[in-house]
Amino acid sequence: MSTATVAPFRFFDIVVAGVERLSPTMIRVAFAGPALAAMESAGRDQRIKLFFPHPGQDAPVMPDDDGTNWYPAWQALDPAVRGIMRTYTTRSLTRAPDRLVVDFAVHGETGPGSRWALRAAPGDRLSVLAPIVAENVAYDFRPPAGTDWLLVTADETALPAVAGIFAALPADLPVRAWIEVADAGDRLAPATAADAEVTWLVRGEAAPVTEALRAAELPGGAPYAWVAGESATVRAVRRHLVRERGFDRRAVTFSGYWRRGTTEDQLLAAAESA
Ligand SMILES: Cc1cc2nc3c(=O)[nH]c(=O)nc-3n(C[C@H](O)[C@H](O)[C@H](O)COP(=O)(O)OP(=O)(O)OC[C@H]3O[C@@H](n4cnc5c(N)ncnc54)[C@H](O)[C@@H]3O)c2cc1C
Repeated sequence: MSTATVAPFRFFDIVVAGVERLSPTMIRVAFAGPALAAMESAGRDQRIKLFFPHPGQDAPVMPDDDGTNWYPAWQALDPAVRGIMRTYTTRSLTRAPDRLVVDFAVHGETGPGSRWALRAAPGDRLSVLAPIVAENVAYDFRPPAGTDWLLVTADETALPAVAGIFAALPADLPVRAWIEVADAGDRLAPATAADAEVTWLVRGEAAPVTEALRAAELPGGAPYAWVAGESATVRAVRRHLVRERGFDRRAVTFSGYWRRGTTEDQLLAAAESA
């Protein structure tokens, strides 16, 4: 019997198979790849790491690693040359043919991820770190047993995760969601069997999510909250739920998907030096 353990994540070379503009802010990219048959997903808010090439490279420069040592192996490469790492969500993973779909919330030319998505075209090459086991640690939506209803707040970067979560919800679970988007055209309603009431907040036209939530009347029973989006908003929502609404902090999953004025590289460096 073999005692070898298989790393639950590995790098995949992927190539753009199709690009679709979903809305003013959202661009959907479908990826193909020779090894995609081995990729798995837990669905829900399954996170993955995309690696982008630097200007002048036709594919990201990646370490030669089978996934067991991926992070130190990537870190050991020259930052000016190695693939630029950014975090995204598996919007879907489908078979026959194998396709990984990622929805990009674009924010102009201010970051390599957004910049790449704005120009994405069939044939473009990226790498991705993704799971090869369906049950893996890279998703956060884990409602405790006994949850009576679900509260969600999100922005457009978390809309792909909300779509994955909504698709996995049991029929008739009561859900109250507040989703902030840049443009009225970005209100891409996630399909669900749950009993979901979604309040769309168009930035600049509606109240910010923290204010909308503060004014809301919430159902009784045991809630579970999943909160994602810009870091300062996420912190404010969590504080409101725990301190003012009396949510059990263990029943609040919160995740800063980006921080205003800070790149993902800077966030990573700050987390490492903390
Ligand atoms: C678990 C997880 C899952 C995620 N899933 C997705 C996903 O499926 N789709 C998706 O689009 N994003 C997703 N994100 C968010 C994404 O990783 C960040 O938006 C990331 O900063 C984008 O990289 P970039 O290279 O475009 O910008 P960076 O180089 O990281 O940042 C450059 C500048 O742009 C700003 N910025 C970053 N994002 C935005 C934004 N959305 N609006 C305005 N300004 C911004 C930064 O504050 C910084 O000033 C996810 C994040 C996490 C943690």
